[in-house]
Amino acid sequence: TARRLHGIPPTIFSEMSALAASTGAVNLGQGFPDVDGPAEIIKEAVTALESGRNQYAPGPGIPALREAVAAHQQRHYGLTFDPAREVAVTTGATEGIAAAILALVDPGDEVILVEPYYDSYPAMVQFAGGVRRPVTLSLDESAPGGRLPREALEVAASDKTKVLLLNSPHNPTGTVLTREELETVAAFARDHDLTVVSDEVYEHLTFDGTPHIPIATLDGMRERTMTLSSIGKSFSFTGWKVGWATGPEHLVQALLGAKQWLTFTSGAPLQPAAAYALEHLDHWPTGLALDLQHRRDLLCDGLKRIGLDVTVPEGTYFAVSDITDLGWSDGLEFCRALPERAGVVAIPLQGFYDSDAGQHLVRWTFTKQREVIEEALERLARGN
Ligand code: PMP
Ligand code: GLN
Repeated sequence: TARRLHGIPPTIFSEMSALAASTGAVNLGQGFPDVDGPAEIIKEAVTALESGRNQYAPGPGIPALREAVAAHQQRHYGLTFDPAREVAVTTGATEGIAAAILALVDPGDEVILVEPYYDSYPAMVQFAGGVRRPVTLSLDESAPGGRLPREALEVAASDKTKVLLLNSPHNPTGTVLTREELETVAAFARDHDLTVVSDEVYEHLTFDGTPHIPIATLDGMRERTMTLSSIGKSFSFTGWKVGWATGPEHLVQALLGAKQWLTFTSGAPLQPAAAYALEHLDHWPTGLALDLQHRRDLLCDGLKRIGLDVTVPEGTYFAVSDITDLGWSDGLEFCRALPERAGVVAIPLQGFYDSDAGQHLVRWTFTKQREVIEEALERLARGN
């Protein structure tokens, strides 16, 4: 195989989902809801399929979806984007990440990643021939200088740094960066003249009234930020892989320059349905977030009861726990043994770190029905 694949392990999600399937364990690993999003949106997709929307969509996406995305950014965040030149539809945020990195990173350029990082980020940096520079996100809310302090960012920076890849609400920790923490990142990006690629796929899934603040809304950041999101998390259609990028024209057009050679265009019949979701069901993710918040509490309380030290997340699908108190030190060993011992699957975090800060951390998803979470907790109480 080509060198760009060397050293990139198979994604942990495949290993752990296969383990869940082969052992019949309850899968609190890979994050996907076990209930679909609104039937009304599915109906729009069916209508599109049945009414001849089955040939190539325009490369940047159908105008209706680009307009709906621009209106969404305006309505929620006061950000104005020209749907014709500053919005692009992608095949999930995953293609947005790939196209953004391929468009912005030359061989030898450095990219700052916040560890623990979503596993497609380092893979894409390597594909581009770039070099990743990890900065460790602190899980301690009261950490001096915030959870991403300026000093840690400075240590990772050099004159080769081009891009900072940010993700808030953050997978896997559930951290939602505060305005102060984002101001620190923004000042750093401005001072080093960096482009920020901001993965905001969990933008609507925050809890306890915690606001999601797009970094593009901060001073001087709109012109240097490419923001990515998708239909998957906000509307519980993770399998649809309809995503979008918004940003200044030069960045979005650069992304499209890469995208045209990756997929050329994204799936046509799901785009009108995604536009419909953004236009007509704007309130839906709010209800989902509240419902998820209750399931977060169910999971976190249960994990604490069995003796795990849990960081209660402010957003996303995930809670992270420290397994040290259970007498374990290696998350991968713990997760490989767990299906056998307890009949539950979770995700070890060490693969999302360059440093050893994640060795003892394990991620659990609560985007499952209450009965499923309760069953997992009962099993864990019996056999952890
Ligand atoms: N970024 C993060 C942080 C995610 O958790 C996910 C979901 N797997 C993605 C990107 C990918 O999103 P999509 O399914 O839209 O490609
Ligand atoms: N975002 C989901 C998770 O982190 C899905 C991962 C994936 O499918 N690669 O679990």
